[in-house]
Amino acid sequence: MKSYDVAIIGSGPGGYVAAIRCAQLGMKTAIIEKYATLGGTCLNVGCIPSKALLSSSHHYEEATKHFEDHGIEIPGDIKVNLEKMIARKQAVVDQTTGGVDFLMKKNNIDVFEGLGSFKDATHITIDGKDAQEIEAKNIIIATGSKPSTLPFITLDKERIITSTEALKLKEIPKHMIIIGGGVIGLELGQVYRRLGAEVTVIEYMDRILPTMDAGLSKELNKVFKKAKCKMMLSHKVQSVERNGDEVIVKAENKKGEVVEFKGDYCLVSVGRRPYTDGLNLDAAGVKMTDRGQVEVNEHLQTNVSNIYAIGDVVKGAMLAHKAEEEGVFVAETLAGQKPHIDYNLIPGVVYTWPEVAAVGKTEEELKEAGTAYKVGQFPFRALGRARASGDTDGFVKILADKTTDEVLGVHMIGARCADLIAEAVTAMEFRASAEDISRMSHAHPTFAEAVKEAALAATDDRALHV
Ligand code: FAD
Repeated sequence: MKSYDVAIIGSGPGGYVAAIRCAQLGMKTAIIEKYATLGGTCLNVGCIPSKALLSSSHHYEEATKHFEDHGIEIPGDIKVNLEKMIARKQAVVDQTTGGVDFLMKKNNIDVFEGLGSFKDATHITIDGKDAQEIEAKNIIIATGSKPSTLPFITLDKERIITSTEALKLKEIPKHMIIIGGGVIGLELGQVYRRLGAEVTVIEYMDRILPTMDAGLSKELNKVFKKAKCKMMLSHKVQSVERNGDEVIVKAENKKGEVVEFKGDYCLVSVGRRPYTDGLNLDAAGVKMTDRGQVEVNEHLQTNVSNIYAIGDVVKGAMLAHKAEEEGVFVAETLAGQKPHIDYNLIPGVVYTWPEVAAVGKTEEELKEAGTAYKVGQFPFRALGRARASGDTDGFVKILADKTTDEVLGVHMIGARCADLIAEAVTAMEFRASAEDISRMSHAHPTFAEAVKEAALAATDDRALHV
């Protein structure tokens, strides 16, 4: 029987990054993945394929709607070849998952293909292509999550679908009804809206992106409405039925009236659930929470001392970079180091266009905590760079402590915000004040100048370009 210092179950961004760091730190490492390709949800059916389709559909929208503004004329019709677009997405995925194979080999990590389940706290049974039993001193559970649904919805995966199917449709929907106005629903909704589908978003709460700062929800809602998406907020879905090629969704509005929507596809994007099916956690005595997550302490250690868990399968934001940080954290803990993760500084990003990004506290959270704060906000339309590229929607908002001026939260919507948020994370990691950011030179002309201007606005309202 093969024996390891560490065995990791699941090869998503949590699992494969943990494996690399364990190997770097000199541990004999194995990784077990039930699918033939490594990379988990993020690389195969999540972050990477969704961004590939967002990019392709963005190019199409630019070509059909904005090229003319730039004096670019394309004779004849511009058409979408969905089959080719999906094939390109798959090529990007294949290249990326192939990159993880390479990294496993480079770091001498043994990869086993098959379903891993606990035999006891130090033995894993692998069922599948590489069927066998292995032994490990330490085990990291990194089994991630799966799309969740509502109890009364039957996902037929043809017309009533999850994000996984939405990433490989064979036709552009005529009318896509999206249940859930969170990140995944909005990103995929924007893809298909750009490609020509009618899109209706049905959200139970009174705003989309309910966990983000309300200012961002409002601004993105405006963008979706401008693109002629129907945004049905405060609607509680009651039923989803399929009738041939038609899907009928009924939802109750605030007045208690039942509203009916008819489309040809319904994307159910109501969140994701931690995935532990088939792991046989009982055999190792590992406890779960009542929300179906693997229970861990502040060291990401389960109740069984040599078993750890990371990523979507434990508490916290379901994000690839959070899973990665936790993978490194556990590897370094096993090596006897004392790593640290500041969960307040894990940025959240929505890759729509304009992009939405945030880090730290929202205004709602600061109010609830009774923290006195000041706000500095700056619109992209006031920037030369934004006007030059024609991306003038959105703003940067900086929330700073009223007394100390420490930056407590940064919320932005606009072009390239997914990248701009990194400056805010760095500043907050070093506990910068708004004044600190406002005194750093930002290259001109860039979108990043909006961060500096918002910081100036937060300190004595001294933005220069509004
Ligand atoms: P996963 O990536 O889910 O990987 C878990 C792996 O474990 C899977 O490969 C699974 O097959 C394997 N596994 C499970 N059980 C077993 C077992 N018993 N034996 C062997 N293998 C097993 N996050 C971002 O940060 N940015 C984004 O832009 C983003 N976009 C997304 C878009 C979509 C459409 C979706 C669905 C998700 C997106 N996410 C994004 C979320 C991100 O994908 C997850 O947070 C991330 O993948 C979690 O990583 P993980 O390692 O915890 O688990």
